[in-house]
Amino acid sequence: MPVTDQAFVTLATNDVYSKGALVVGQCLRQHGTSRQTVVMVTQQVSQSARAALAHVFCEVREVNMLDSLDCAHLNMIGRPELGVTLTKLCCWTLIEYTKCVFLDADTLVLCNVDELFDYDELSAAPDPGWPDCFNSGVFVFRPSLQTYDRLLRWAEEHGSFDGGDQGLLNSFFSDWATKDISKHLPFIYNLSTIAVYTYLPAFQQYGRTAKIVHFLGAVKPWHCKYERQMRKVSLGDGSLPHPHLGPFLSLWWVVYCQSMDSSFTATDTWQEPV
Ligand code: UDP
Ligand code: MN
Repeated sequence: MPVTDQAFVTLATNDVYSKGALVVGQCLRQHGTSRQTVVMVTQQVSQSARAALAHVFCEVREVNMLDSLDCAHLNMIGRPELGVTLTKLCCWTLIEYTKCVFLDADTLVLCNVDELFDYDELSAAPDPGWPDCFNSGVFVFRPSLQTYDRLLRWAEEHGSFDGGDQGLLNSFFSDWATKDISKHLPFIYNLSTIAVYTYLPAFQQYGRTAKIVHFLGAVKPWHCKYERQMRKVSLGDGSLPHPHLGPFLSLWWVVYCQSMDSSFTATDTWQEPV
């Protein structure tokens, strides 16, 4: 039975990140989630990208950070670096849902992960760079306008120690590391690809149990070149961002092509992958 008051949520503020969001939605669908799926988009996302997203998500929701800022928050308008960060916070405004799971647009869901809804706010997996911080690419939360407002005020007063949503959320949910171990998601729900470099033997031992892969960092799957016939992924110079990630990158491209095939119509002008 579909669960109508719980949702997976992702975010795309432009057409490039929409490619990632498309894969998130397609994976959730393919793995038969019983939850709703929502992609938050901002006005920069083109109509054709939205049309493609509408094929795989239950809802394409336009969010506009500045609309929701009241006078008390006007100071933040002069802080463009917090733009995407603050847009991510809009997920707390999805109050028709009682519980949600946020997934970055650069994640790849490998199986059904509906059990994430058994966790409570704020549950997340450790960040491989500083494990007393959670990584904000995958987290369980409860939409609430009150929490949203508190988060905005927090952002206004304290900013973000890393300039992004992860610094902000970690300082806001500051007892995550120590208070309640039941809010620590296993690392396999947010296998940051960076961990492959830092602890290769653990990746070799446990990598196959991964449920969600996160292409954290500057090089995203959509930056790679894909030869569809050969199913070959590479960077422009023929190299791979990391050889151990080859299967995950290929899978990302397979899913991306599937989602384009099912949503692409002759009238669409959204660029084919390059
Ligand atoms: N994002 C976006 N547009 C941007 C940058 C980020 O929509 O220009 C969203 C997208 O959902 C992305 C998330 O914010 O997955 C976090 O950014 P990113 O994944 O690039 O950061 P990383 O995980 O590499 O730290
Ligand atoms: Mn990410």
